[in-house]
Amino acid sequence: MSELVGSNLPIIKRQNRSAVLKTLLRHGPLPRREVGFRTLLTPSTITNLVGELLDQGLVREIPVVASPRHDRVGRRPVLLEINSSGGYVLGAYVGATTLTVTIGDLRARVLGYRQTPLHRDLSEEGFLDLLVSEIKLLLAEHATPLDRVYGIGVTPAGDVDAHRGLLLRLPEHPWRDLPLVADLQARLSLPVAIENSREAMALAEMVFGGAQGVSSLVLIHLAWSIGCSLVIDQRVYSGDHGGAGRLGHVVVEENGAPCSCGKRGCLNTIASAKGIVRIARAEAESATDSTLWHFHDGDLSQLTDLDVLKAADEGDPAAQRAVWRIATALGQVIANLILVLDPSMVVVAGRVVEASNALFAPLHQVVDSIVYPATGLASNLQLSAFGEEGPRVAGLTLALQSFVYSPALTLPTDTADDPPDERLNRVWLEA
Ligand SMILES: [Zn+2]
Repeated sequence: MSELVGSNLPIIKRQNRSAVLKTLLRHGPLPRREVGFRTLLTPSTITNLVGELLDQGLVREIPVVASPRHDRVGRRPVLLEINSSGGYVLGAYVGATTLTVTIGDLRARVLGYRQTPLHRDLSEEGFLDLLVSEIKLLLAEHATPLDRVYGIGVTPAGDVDAHRGLLLRLPEHPWRDLPLVADLQARLSLPVAIENSREAMALAEMVFGGAQGVSSLVLIHLAWSIGCSLVIDQRVYSGDHGGAGRLGHVVVEENGAPCSCGKRGCLNTIASAKGIVRIARAEAESATDSTLWHFHDGDLSQLTDLDVLKAADEGDPAAQRAVWRIATALGQVIANLILVLDPSMVVVAGRVVEASNALFAPLHQVVDSIVYPATGLASNLQLSAFGEEGPRVAGLTLALQSFVYSPALTLPTDTADDPPDERLNRVWLEA
C-alpha cells in the first residue's frame, strides 16, 4: 500500500489478522508464541485474533507429541495451522473458447470444476447468464453452503480493469467493458475480484506454487496466444496501461506470417497453439512420410498443438524440426527477457509444455545457450507447479488473496462500522 495512506484502528485490526493468516499459510504449523514472534504482535493481540479465527474455522489447533518435560508440568503444547477445509473459494477462468468454474479449499486445492464452451455468437447478456448458472450448478454439485464461500476470483484471458471490475475485451469475442464484478456480486451475493489470467497465474506460482519466497518471476503461458506476467520485487508489474507482458506480439520474424494484431512475424504466429500447428503443417507438407499425416485421417487442417508435440515425442523428424523452430523463436525471446530483468525464476506454463518434454528440453537448451555465455549463470527455467490446473488454481488464488489472506476478510464478529476498504483487495504479495 502507498506510504501516503494512513491507518485507522479497524484497518489495523484487519491488517494484523491478515498477517497472522499469511504467516500460518507460509510457515505453519506454528505455536502461538512463534506467530507472535514473526508478526511482532503482542501475546494478547495474538490470543484475540487467533480466538476469532478458531471460532470461524479458518485456523485449527493440532496437538504435538508432548515431550517428557512438557508432561511434567502438565501442559500440552499445540500448534496452529490453516484449516484447509474451513471454507471455500470459487474461480472462473474465462478463456477465448471455454469457461471453467472451479471450487477450491483454503490452500487453493481444486475440489471440483465445470467446463463449458464459449461460443463466438454468445451475446454479453448470454455470457453473464451462463457464468452465473455454471457457478450455481457447481455450488449445487458440491452441496456448498454459501456462508462458507469467501469469494470468487474471475480471471479472463483478456484485458481487464481490475480497479473498476471490468472485463475490457476477450480474444475472439466482440464484448466490451463488461461490468463482471458488479453483476456477479449482485446476482450471487458474494465478493468478486477480477484480474487477467496471466497475472493471476503468476500470483498462484508465488503463493502456492514453485515460486514461493522468490522476489522476481517471469511467467510465460503458452495457450491460444502467448501471455507473460512479470513479478518484480514481489509485485505484479502491469505497466502504465495494464498492458505489460504482451510477449506474443514481439516480432521475431521479418515478413513472417500475419498476426491478429495486424503485424507480421509476431511470436504468436510461431509458438502459440495456432502458431505451432501452422509451423508443423508446413513441415508435414514437405515430408509425406511424417507421422503428422497419421492424425485425423491425414486431414492436416484438424491437427492440434498436442498432436504435434506427441509426434515429436515419438521421434517424427518433421515434427521435431517444427518443435526446434518453435523452441528457438520462443527461447530467444525468453533469454532476452532474462538478460534484461535478471529474474529469480522463469516459469513456463501451458498444456503443450506440460504434456511433453519435446518442447521444454530444446527450449531450455536455447535459453541457456544465450544466457550462460553472457552471465555465467544457468537460467532458472521451471515448469509450472500446477500442470493443466494452472488457470483453475489462478482463480482460486485470486479469491483467497483478495478475500481470505487479506485485510478485506470479513468475519461475522466484525462490527458494521468496520467495513473493508475496497482498495485493500489489491494488497497482494507482500510477506
Ligand atoms: Zn501480433
